[in-house]
Amino acid sequence: MGLLLAGGRVIDPAAGMDAVRDVLVEGGRIAAVAPAIPREGHTVADVSDLVVAPGLVDLNVHLGDPGFTHREDVASGTRAAARGGITSLVCAADTSPAADHPVVVEGIAARAARDGRVRVHHIGALTKGLRGEELAPLGALAPVVCAFSDDPRPVPDASLLRKALTYARPFNRPVILRCEDASLAGRGFAHEGAMAAVLGLRGIPSLAEEVAVARDLLLAEATGVRVHLTHISTAGAVRLIREAKRRGVPVTCDVTPHHLMLTEEAVEGFRPGTRVQPPLRSAQDRDALREGLADGTIDAIASDHRPLAPEEVAVEYEAMPPGASGLETLLAAALTALVEPGIVGLPRVIACLTHVPASILDLPAGSLSPDAPADLVVIDPACEWVVDPDQFLSRGCNTPFAGMRVRGRAVAALVAGQVVACAPGFANTLSQVTGASSTTVEVRT
Ligand SMILES: [Zn+2]
Repeated sequence: MGLLLAGGRVIDPAAGMDAVRDVLVEGGRIAAVAPAIPREGHTVADVSDLVVAPGLVDLNVHLGDPGFTHREDVASGTRAAARGGITSLVCAADTSPAADHPVVVEGIAARAARDGRVRVHHIGALTKGLRGEELAPLGALAPVVCAFSDDPRPVPDASLLRKALTYARPFNRPVILRCEDASLAGRGFAHEGAMAAVLGLRGIPSLAEEVAVARDLLLAEATGVRVHLTHISTAGAVRLIREAKRRGVPVTCDVTPHHLMLTEEAVEGFRPGTRVQPPLRSAQDRDALREGLADGTIDAIASDHRPLAPEEVAVEYEAMPPGASGLETLLAAALTALVEPGIVGLPRVIACLTHVPASILDLPAGSLSPDAPADLVVIDPACEWVVDPDQFLSRGCNTPFAGMRVRGRAVAALVAGQVVACAPGFANTLSQVTGASSTTVEVRT
């Protein structure tokens, strides 16, 4: 007996599919995607008017477990991810201790196997302790990680980064870089623009990012090693990456939903969750990011999920650590920023959230092809809702979207054919499934 998701709009960008189809899940795998699969012998869930897509792949998640479990742990973070439609997440190396040794990564993997609700992949540190002083043991890390990165820290020393790229080459893992020149960024708290001036906040100029992007592109070009520039935020960065791609530099990049949707204006009132790294930029920057995503300069969308504990955001703006809890708003914010205003179509956004990030990191995810693991998301693209951080499953309540109306929601997520999240309104549809198969349905409020 299988689970038949019947009559949904199936968007599988890896296969170039956007059509009404039935999807049959059997034995934890995609058994078939076809028009009118016979119902007999299967449990049927009617998903007409809904979208069925590969489960989302979030390549930039700061779970902070071990070391920061007052903010989030593997259990809460993966539950939040499942609710957001994310079935594979990539855990950043900024844990404590940092993921600069296989033992740390294996510890996270063990907790993910025990408590995790979605698939957890790992980034290994590029330098020991993310300190930017000496290389981490890349060879020892390579078998257990899908990329190397010091994110959220930039690598300040160009010579060390050059050496790191050279050492990383034989392992065929991309190096993920956060681009910021510390001398230009200084100790800023917001984009260097009108809003920072009004609020009396020290600014971070766009140049702080663009100087680092230019440097990192030159190093990628010189070494021939794949680099992925994460959470880029400025028009100049988009232009530099566009030019580099034309020259054939092996570079990919991602952007967060908050940089696609919001501008520096959102900082007004010192709202928690708007203190992000890089800062929310100008309207021109946001428009350039949207354009970069539309023309393919920007490859992927990632949450940069960085939850904070309530006591950490109940302080003045300059004392607040940077970060936004983003797993539960990744999909809705991306759809609201891009599909609502007609910048790109739904299939392109789904691609940026599924098979493109999967292929950047060589992850076995992001596709509904026959025999692929049945990791998928059912999306209600018309569902309007207001972001309420009190309802988050993430322990981080710091979101720049609090109180905002967004459109589009994951109503169910499956990992290896098991329902790992299900919206209350959709539970009835799947409740027939529970009685008839071994699928477990969890109803969330
Ligand atoms: Zn990040």
